[in-house]
Amino acid sequence: MKITNLNPDTAIGASAWFVQIQGHGLLLDAGVHPKREGRRGLPLFDLVKNQELDAIAISHCHHDHVGSLPIALRYFPKAHVLMSELSYFLVERVLHNSVNVMKRQREELGIKEYPLFTHDEVDDIAPVFQAFKYNREVDWAAFQKTRAGFSSPTLEFYDAGHALGSAGISVRAAKETLFYTGDVCFHDQTILRKARFDDVNADVLIMETTRGNRRLPPGFTRESEIERLSQAIRRVLRRKGSILMPTFALGRTQEILALLALLMAEGQLHRQSIYIGGLGRVFTEIYDLESHRTHRQHPGLQLHEALDLVVLEQGQAKKMKLEGGRIFVITAGMMSENTAAHDLALRLMGNETHAIFFVGYTDPDTPGGRLRAAKHGERFLFSPSGGKATRLCEAHDFDLTAHANRDDLLDFVGQVAPRAVLLGHGDDDSRNWFEEQIRKRHPRIKVFQPKPGQTVEV
Ligand SMILES: [Zn+2]
Ligand SMILES: [Zn+2]
Repeated sequence: MKITNLNPDTAIGASAWFVQIQGHGLLLDAGVHPKREGRRGLPLFDLVKNQELDAIAISHCHHDHVGSLPIALRYFPKAHVLMSELSYFLVERVLHNSVNVMKRQREELGIKEYPLFTHDEVDDIAPVFQAFKYNREVDWAAFQKTRAGFSSPTLEFYDAGHALGSAGISVRAAKETLFYTGDVCFHDQTILRKARFDDVNADVLIMETTRGNRRLPPGFTRESEIERLSQAIRRVLRRKGSILMPTFALGRTQEILALLALLMAEGQLHRQSIYIGGLGRVFTEIYDLESHRTHRQHPGLQLHEALDLVVLEQGQAKKMKLEGGRIFVITAGMMSENTAAHDLALRLMGNETHAIFFVGYTDPDTPGGRLRAAKHGERFLFSPSGGKATRLCEAHDFDLTAHANRDDLLDFVGQVAPRAVLLGHGDDDSRNWFEEQIRKRHPRIKVFQPKPGQTVEV
């Protein structure tokens, strides 16, 4: 089996793995880099453009895994596109939103290459998408039976517990098997239950390493972290301050909304409006609609019924009154310029009454990352349009991750006991930690950290 890492960057970047197995070609994910602009954010598709590709399998609908799917299909127009049933309900919304964001960035930032694809193109490719339930083994290359005379390899999606529809992908050929974790979570979240990877077998494992550089403090529990967050929310609301929780639209937003709904149901929080973004609203509706198909907690909890959700209108974040204790769960985790999260943060941070709570990943080189790193009372450059600012409001981090903690992932490597592990989706120090630990604990397992564009034969 040959595996090529098409991520253009060594960090989390744009996930895309080109796999050649038993005479067939498969692309695992087609993401875009969250920080790179224009075509520089695309996977290195040119490296494999002359190869045969039978299918593209998508692990989940976050942009770093699916955002370049229309471009991938330009390279491989005959490829079948396979994903989990729940991802199927999300994927078109995600791609259409990408077009909108790229169009806006073309206007605002003058990036002439944008949009890299159009709404029409998304509509054109949608009919080839195929949806599969978790734990059904399917032929993904059966239409290429003529090739090489081999029997067709199969593919199976495993619930990854990371965001709605997220899946680990198992690929089985006659002589060897591969498992790709995608983004995975080995603990229950407020809505989604943990990954169901119990009976995974594989000769080769491709693994995410997001939290390899993060040691959990002794005594840490998710329950105590949630308790700390709910106390902080109550404290700020008591003094009539407003709270901003910047989140990503798919997954984290719904987990935080569920938490607020449960606190209100328990009487720990008074019922009040929760302000969200338009895209967060769309995905929240899909979480509600598909709750009966989802392996989750609180299956009866319908967020749009339990909460008074108010979608922020264009420009509202710049003008609305912030006194009186409002709650914003706003989609734009990085607080990029020209977003409501950016404008709200700028208005809230100079006032000691208010609070900004970070509940997910923030890239250090974004306005959100710089605000997160800023000390109380320190002047720092927030963004080019926002200029310099001073943080006087309360700001805290809460570790409510949707990614597996590193010790759980390491246990998973031991459980699968593959002959080789390929490490991706993490910073250098994260991947290095895993490499070191796997070598120590399992000296027989070969460990690879394929560089951008590098092919590994295993
Ligand atoms: Zn993800
Ligand atoms: Zn990811």
